[in-house]
Order: sequence, then C-alpha cells, then structure tokens
Amino acid sequence: QRLVDSGPDGEDQAVEAALRPKDLDEFVGQEKVREQLDLVLRAARARGATADHVLLSGAPGLGKTTLSMIIAAEMNAPIRITSGPAIQHAGDLAAILSSLQEGEVLFLDEIHRMSRPAEEMLYMAMEDFRVDVIVGKGPGATAIPLELPPFTLVGATTRAGLLPPPLRDRFGFTGHMEFYEPAELERVLHRSARLLDVEIDTDGAAEIAGRSRGTPRIANRLLRRVRDYAQVKADGIIDRDIAAAALKVYEVDARGLDRLDRAVLGALLKLFGGGPVGLSTLAVAVGEERETVEEVAEPFLVREGLLARTPRGRVATPAAWTHLGLVPPQQGNG
Ligand code: ADP
Repeated sequence: QRLVDSGPDGEDQAVEAALRPKDLDEFVGQEKVREQLDLVLRAARARGATADHVLLSGAPGLGKTTLSMIIAAEMNAPIRITSGPAIQHAGDLAAILSSLQEGEVLFLDEIHRMSRPAEEMLYMAMEDFRVDVIVGKGPGATAIPLELPPFTLVGATTRAGLLPPPLRDRFGFTGHMEFYEPAELERVLHRSARLLDVEIDTDGAAEIAGRSRGTPRIANRLLRRVRDYAQVKADGIIDRDIAAAALKVYEVDARGLDRLDRAVLGALLKLFGGGPVGLSTLAVAVGEERETVEEVAEPFLVREGLLARTPRGRVATPAAWTHLGLVPPQQGNG
C-alpha cells in the first residue's frame, strides 16, 4: 500500500472512524455541497419526511462515506453501509432493502459497480419503495411484490457520468465533491491533530497539506506517519522541519509525488527526453505493469500538470522538468 493511496486500508479504518466529522458544521470545505445538502435535510426534517435520495460523486478519500454518515446523523436515522461490488445478485439487494427500517440511510459505495439485475431492482425501490422478489425459476417463476419502508439511498461513485441515466435521474440531489484546497486540508489536519492529541504548528500543517494531493484521507495518513517521526526523533511537536524530514523518509515529496510517481516521471524525462513515448515502453523502463503506470501513477501526474496523454504517447510538461530539477534538451536546431 502506498502512503499516498487515496483508498482505505485495514489499518486506517479504526482511526478513520475516530477522525470522521460528526455533523455538517464539522465537515471541512465542500461549501457548495454542504450548503445544498443542508437545505435538503432541513426541508425534509421540517416536513417530517425521509430525505430525498442523494448521489455523491468524487475521488476516493474526499469524504463521501463521512457525508453519508452525517446525513444519517442529521436525520436522526440509522445507517447501513454496503457497496456495489458486494451486491452481485438482485437477491442480495432485496435482502438488504427488505430489512431496512423506516427512514434508514442506505449507503451504497461504488454504486456504478452493481450488477445489472440489482440495478434494475434498485430503480423500482428508489421510486416506489417496492421490489419484486422473483420466486422459483424458469417458466414457473413468479414475482412477489414487496413493500419497503421509505428510506434514503446515498449512492457514491467516482464519476456521476459512470451511472446509467435512469439511475442518475432517480436521485433527488447530486453533490460533486472537489479536491480540497491546501488551506482546507490544513484545517482538516489541525482538527485531526487535536483528536489524536498531537501538537502541530501552522507551518507543520501547511507542509503536510501541500503533500496530501487534495485528499483528506491522505492528509490524515501522512499526519500519522509524521507523528511517529516526531515522537521518535524529536519532542513530539510537528513543525515544518519535522514534517519535511519525516516525509522525506517516506519518499513523499513537496508536491505529494511518491517514489513510483517520480520513477515514471524520471524515466520519461531522462530516458525519453520528455516523450512522446508509448505507455508500454514507459512501463518497461520503470519495471512496472502497464496498468500500474496508467491507473496508479498517471492520474495524479496528469492532474498536477506534469504529464500529458497524447495520441502519440506520454509527454512531459515543462513543469515536470522543473519539478525534478532537470533541464529540458534544446529544441529546434538539433
Ligand atoms: P470516501 O468515502 O470519499 O472515500 P471518507 O468519507 O471515508 O472518504 O473520508 C476519508 C477520511 O478523510 C476520513 O477519515 C474522514 O474523516 C476524512 N475526511 C474526509 N472529508 C473530510 C472533511 N471534509 N473534513 C474532515 N475530514 C474529512
């Protein structure tokens, strides 16, 4: 597992639970989503009704699970958490839906990865609070309608565009989660440090925030590694120097690139003069699988404006040369 991976890992789960904001006021950033969601929830509460279904789109680690828990808390409702890949058969979904309590929030992570039959069952459940349970097989199969209590579905997906339109249309509200600004991540870090009982100063938080790839989950993870370092090598207090020294040990650089990112970028610059070079060639040069380079390293490099994917291959941008402290070769008259 990479330190800068935005997905959850085993060790994280307990700490993450402890660090999750409990209500909308504690939730840092995402002003637009927060304001809109606040209205949706207040209105539902005023009507004494179950909140509309909510779709949250955005990269891993930006707070979708946290928001779904906040929705349940604000509606004073229980929450059930599951994910698209966990629902392979329509029957799996029917079992979950039929056991929901009135007003319960059902959080469905990676909703775009649900199986097709389950998805179709979900349409009806979302709209009419009803499912047809198929009993038996073949020509003798019968559909038994089953009434469901009203519930709120909170679906999460990396991109709303991945959802089939009929599913997308059944959500009353869609919130798009953005990557966080450094100042917002600093607030996340100060809050987490308080909860973890770690002392961190303004510069220390800024140093970690700048390396966190716009993602609270990564910020919290880096904070814990820096805390270890501060405890072992210093007096436990995190300032700029301690944060920088700790993250140097973990090979996370000033912009949040790790060893793999820098290997890909370094090969592109040093071996291929900045490209264009094909993905497979680049992968062989860094000794990684094609998929690893394409799916793990590249998205962040592209987002950071360090690498571009062109029809002729991968190309480094001028910022890439600067970042690795290299000088681009002379062009034009060579
Ligand atoms: P996702 O479901 O989008 O992958 P999570 O909701 O699990 O992300 O959030 C990952 C971690 O980041 C959690 O520990 C959570 O406390 C923290 N986090 C996410 N968003 C925020 C936020 N806006 N403010 C404070 N902490 C946050």
